[in-house]
Formats: sequence, C-alpha cells, structure tokens
Amino acid sequence: MIHIGAHVSVAKGWEAMGRTSLALGGDTFAFFLRSPRGGAAKEVVPEDAAALRAILTEHGFGTIVAHSPYTMNLCAVKEYVVEHAEDVFRGDLQNLEDYLPGQYLNFHPGSHVGQGAEAAIPRIADALNRLMEPGQTTTILLETMAGKGSEVGRSFEELRAILDLVRPDLQDRLGICLDTCHVWDAGYDLSDPDRVLDEFDRVLGLERLKAIHLNDSKNPCGAAKDRHEKLGQGCIGTDRLKSVATHPKLQGKPFVLETPNELSGYKAEIETVKSWFC
Ligand code: FE
Ligand code: FE
Ligand code: ZN
Repeated sequence: MIHIGAHVSVAKGWEAMGRTSLALGGDTFAFFLRSPRGGAAKEVVPEDAAALRAILTEHGFGTIVAHSPYTMNLCAVKEYVVEHAEDVFRGDLQNLEDYLPGQYLNFHPGSHVGQGAEAAIPRIADALNRLMEPGQTTTILLETMAGKGSEVGRSFEELRAILDLVRPDLQDRLGICLDTCHVWDAGYDLSDPDRVLDEFDRVLGLERLKAIHLNDSKNPCGAAKDRHEKLGQGCIGTDRLKSVATHPKLQGKPFVLETPNELSGYKAEIETVKSWFC
C-alpha cells in the first residue's frame, strides 16, 4: 500500500490541514508554507503545529510533502530574484525544522530563462550548498519537471547533474519527487512504468525517489505543457496511473494529488486510488 493524500490549503492553519486530510480519507498531504506565488511566510502558531503533529502520529500518516512556491527560482538571472528565492527557501525550511521536523520539502529546480540548463545547473547546486545544513531533519526533494519554457529538471540526467554538484555531506538529505504529469509531458511513457523506473534507477538511483505527485495530464506524452488533469480524464489514463500507484517498487511512499479538484473531487479520487489495492 501507498500513503495517499491531496495538496491542501494552509489558510485555516496547520491542524486544519490534518483534519481536512483525514476527512478526505488521506494519510499524507502537501501544502505551501506561503502563497504559491511567493510573498511573506504565513506565521506558524506553535500550538497549532503541535496539534497537527499529534494527528500525524495518532493516525499513522506517511511523510508530508511540503512545496516551495512556484515562483522561487534559485537560478534566476537577476541577482535580487535569486536573493528572494534563497530567503523563501531558508524561511520555509526553518519553519519545517522548527514545527514539522523529518518531512519533505519539494521544489521546482528552476527556470534558466535563457542561460541554458548547463549554466543554471551549477547555480541551483550552489544555492543548495548554501541553504542546506548537514544536520537538518528535512529532506529536500527536486521535482521532475515537464520541460515547459526554460524549466530545468526535464530529464533524469538534468536532475542527476544537480545532485552531483551538491556537497557529499548533504547527499543523504536530498531526494526526488516524481510527478506523473510532468514526466509524461517530458516524454517518459508511463505505458511501461518498469522501463521508466529502470531508467530512473540507472540515472538517479531508485533510493532517491521519495515521493510521487499523482496527476493525469491534459496533453499527450512529450507535449512539455504541464497541464494537470483529474485522474482518468486525461491522456495518461486510469490504467497507467494505477500501474504506477500499485507498482511494487513504489509501495510505502507518499503519493499526493495535484489534480484540478475541489475537496469533494479529492475525496473521490483518494477513494478510487484506494480501490486499486483491493
Ligand atoms: Fe510542483
Ligand atoms: Fe507536481
Ligand atoms: Zn505541474
């Protein structure tokens, strides 16, 4: 079995995210520590965070997959954009260390905005070398990207190149989050998940794969568009998504839905995913 949940809103606080996830039938979730467009970090109330931690323990949740803002670009050309990105990363990581230790913080590696991936990759790794600490409890996840625009991380090789430039003493705090919509859009055909996972293992090592974003895609394999669809209503389809979720090599990992849904839709999708295991 896997852990399954949805991306939920932090607007009503941390305990509320746990309660919402329980109401959806989930046992993991994802959330933004601030607006997905960046902005100031939402102030964490210590008692509220403690209440969430109690829920996670009591109900046996899998690892939580926090998400950095989409706009956070550690390899931007403009220096002030990078400085802001580093402040955001540092702030979100510190909040997790203080209030929700031992979880995952997932981020989009960045957009090279014309520099080329070769120039951007060392800059992303340099930022991680500055921002991470060997003693941190949070594992940082790089997300596999669709390859829209100038996104870095469109291939397993690009992610490998970033990992290779991060300091050895930080390596055990680094992993990958595989987004099914993104890898599909990037040209990895999920008709044969064994082949995609073998490729992942060859390039990155399967032990790096910590979490999965379970999304259908509005576009065919290789489209490089990144438009998520509800499970079974897109080009990936139920059969392929099911073969990913039930894959023996992925059991025990947190799977998070980022499908275009209201809470009722997430509830139904979580039920569907659970039915794949019956
Ligand atoms: Fe993402
Ligand atoms: Fe994602
Ligand atoms: Zn996406």
